[in-house]
Amino acid sequence: AKRVYLFNEGNRDDRDLLGGKGANLCEMTNLGLPVPFGFVITTPTCREFFENGNHLPNLLEQEYRVALDLVEKKMDARFGDPENPLLFSVRSGAPISMPGMMNTILNLGLNDAIVEGLAKKTGNPRFAYDSYRRFIQMFADVVMDLDGAQFEREIERYKHAQGYQSDIDMSAADWRAIVEIFKGIADFPQDPFVQLRKAVEAVFLSWHTPRANVYREMNNIPDSLGTAVTVQAMVFGNFGDDSGSGVAFTRNPSTGEHTFFGEFLFNAAGEDVVAGTRTPQPISTLQDRLPEVYQQLDETQRLLERHYRDMQDIEFTVQEGRFYMLQTRSGKRTGRASIKIAVDMVNEGLINEKEALLRVSPEHVEAFLHPMVDPAAKKDVVATGLPASPGGATGHVVFSADEAVEVARGGRPVILVRRETTPEDIHGMKVAQGILTELGGMTSHAAVVARGMGVCAITGATGLNVNIEAGTATTRDGHVIRRGDVITLDGSSGEVMLGDIPKTEASSSDDFQTLLSWADTHRRLKVRANAETPEDARRARELGAEGIGLCRTEHMFFDRERIDLMRAMILARNKDEREPYLQKLRVFQQEDLLALFKVMDGLPVTVRLLDPPLHEFLPHGEEDVVELAKRLGRSADEVREAAASLSEVNPMLGFRGCRLSVVMPEITRMQVSAIIGAAIEAIEQGYQPYPEIMIPLVINVREIRLIGEIIDSSIRKMLKEKSVSLRYKVGTMMETPRACLGADRLAPEVEFMSFGTNDLTQMTYGFSRDDAGRFIPDYLENKLIEHDPFVSLDQRAVGRLMRMAVEESRGANKNIKYGICGEHGGDPRSIQFCHDLGLDYVSCSPFRLPVARVAAAQAQV
Ligand code: PEP
Ligand code: MG
Repeated sequence: AKRVYLFNEGNRDDRDLLGGKGANLCEMTNLGLPVPFGFVITTPTCREFFENGNHLPNLLEQEYRVALDLVEKKMDARFGDPENPLLFSVRSGAPISMPGMMNTILNLGLNDAIVEGLAKKTGNPRFAYDSYRRFIQMFADVVMDLDGAQFEREIERYKHAQGYQSDIDMSAADWRAIVEIFKGIADFPQDPFVQLRKAVEAVFLSWHTPRANVYREMNNIPDSLGTAVTVQAMVFGNFGDDSGSGVAFTRNPSTGEHTFFGEFLFNAAGEDVVAGTRTPQPISTLQDRLPEVYQQLDETQRLLERHYRDMQDIEFTVQEGRFYMLQTRSGKRTGRASIKIAVDMVNEGLINEKEALLRVSPEHVEAFLHPMVDPAAKKDVVATGLPASPGGATGHVVFSADEAVEVARGGRPVILVRRETTPEDIHGMKVAQGILTELGGMTSHAAVVARGMGVCAITGATGLNVNIEAGTATTRDGHVIRRGDVITLDGSSGEVMLGDIPKTEASSSDDFQTLLSWADTHRRLKVRANAETPEDARRARELGAEGIGLCRTEHMFFDRERIDLMRAMILARNKDEREPYLQKLRVFQQEDLLALFKVMDGLPVTVRLLDPPLHEFLPHGEEDVVELAKRLGRSADEVREAAASLSEVNPMLGFRGCRLSVVMPEITRMQVSAIIGAAIEAIEQGYQPYPEIMIPLVINVREIRLIGEIIDSSIRKMLKEKSVSLRYKVGTMMETPRACLGADRLAPEVEFMSFGTNDLTQMTYGFSRDDAGRFIPDYLENKLIEHDPFVSLDQRAVGRLMRMAVEESRGANKNIKYGICGEHGGDPRSIQFCHDLGLDYVSCSPFRLPVARVAAAQAQV
């Protein structure tokens, strides 16, 4: 196949073949823009090179020499000709952009004779020798693998000896002297064609430099792609005062504003702008000094944006007052900018709503909802954990919930650091800016609760040794974080940093709302929230919830006073002892549910029967036992004993979910009476409640029949007494493999099925939700798994169980509604899967709702 393409032989669709850079250079050439001519060696050639034991294919040189002849004609100069020299830049260009990851050589084609020719032709010997020494430096670094720093050191030493301050003081003779020194270090080929061949090889080889490998791994770019090589005639921005180099964006990349935004350096090569060694000037200085060039630039950027229908990041050079385009690509932008640009472009008629929706990423949406750690900030990461709840937070370290409340009351921001969190920490979690735990996974208590509250959290930071008593958290390399120290958490990446790291602010905007409304018109999946308090429910409605998909009733008892009742209820020795606590809990439950039904007027509210992982509610440690005993009016021994008798080796797989209803049906009766009582009250107050009662952790149909009967009989009784009619449903969670495997048998007995993928993942993998954080990082690092299955649904196995469950239950009962309420309900990739599976809704924590709306729309368009 053809291995070499001239710039007028390809176009923008040839990314895979010619790399992003090459394809766009071709496209710009076809558009008639002033692009210095050149050719591209294809990516399959790179693969051939590797297959060939790192040797260029035999005929390649012949092929590119033909192309080179044509470039010479176009540029009216000759490669290797001292009288009229043509120089090249040789760059890498992969199908997917890997900025700065691979190698580049500029000014290729210079040697001892040609540098003299260049000096004569340009009348600028200083420029010629400066170019020559730059070439030697890059060639030595990239092709010969010599240490680049030693060349810089030689320049410094030379300048020092001459008493020079900067490069500006260097004359032609000085650069010539430097060239002599460099030639002593690097014995590079004088033959330009040998230089070219070696440069092409080096660019291919740079596909496998360690940093390129790491970058590909981080960004999921396949190793097999390979890179193209772009060989382009050089133009010089460092030619004098009417020359220079610039970088620009067609719109402001941080705000998205529709204003041309760029920087320019006079008398500088492109690499000087990118390297940041000199401070560039705003693009307006170009407008003042070279107005005609500016006009051409402005027309070009408008043309490119219209043509590509996206914000472009362009590089250009001016040589002796002539304008050249060197690169265009879709510009990187902040979340804020991304949404503004997408919405503006629809209003300008450049793209349609569907395209706009596909232009924003979930991270972009998140940037509107939470403050985010500024990606550009310098940061010193001292520990990493799981990115449990997104956003950035800075505060003073505290080690207990009470302390958190105290410090927060004093007006200072706090970061609550714990080994793990339990419901007793709620009051501290509520006031904290961020939460950091040594243990736990993505779906353990701290993570779930923090996400629900929209508070930044990192869990499973196993590199951190938290000592609550001593008030210290020690990092792996021995740094000790103490009470009161200021730290910053990045809940989106899992990084823990010392000090106050700059953050971008959360806020809403009209554009954001517009985009979300488009998402709503274009999605099929409904979105619901996991919420239990009226505040959360209210926020959920604001953020677009179309109901509550999971109300974890045990979370309604996290309050100080209630948690004691809850614990007393759990620790009760028998039914009689339990009864008074249940009655008190019923009052709270009914009040809370009434509030929830009112907020969610007319919308479904899925109330899950109690599912308390017991270890979250039992007292922890001696002090706790003593205090609890005092509050319950029982002896410490009694409490200790009761707790011990309930303690489980593996509470996450223990006495949970509907097992409770089986063993203590009075709890279920209490809950149903609270749910229906609240609904009746709501109706009496003129609202339209729509409760859906959900049975957790079901394994077979007999459980559903048994519990269903408790539910139905309670409801019948209550409705008859009040003679009202109420719309309600009874359904089950699908969170054990057994439930999924027997879904056809459950189907006739339920009106809805909601996948509880937290437990379903835990049980499919046999990974404890609370402990998986300890080894999942190693699994990821060793590529034993691709994603944390508690974050992004494991579509192969867990997803297969879900698919079977849907297909087989639908066969037995066509009226079932399907949802998901595990944490995956807010994960974009998992949402796509749920869409494809034909579920009716996803349910996630309120702050994830906008992301879910956009992801659901992206799945549809
Ligand atoms: C689940 O298991 O996915 C679920 C939603 O329930 P919980 O997280 O409360 O166990
Ligand atoms: Mg569960």
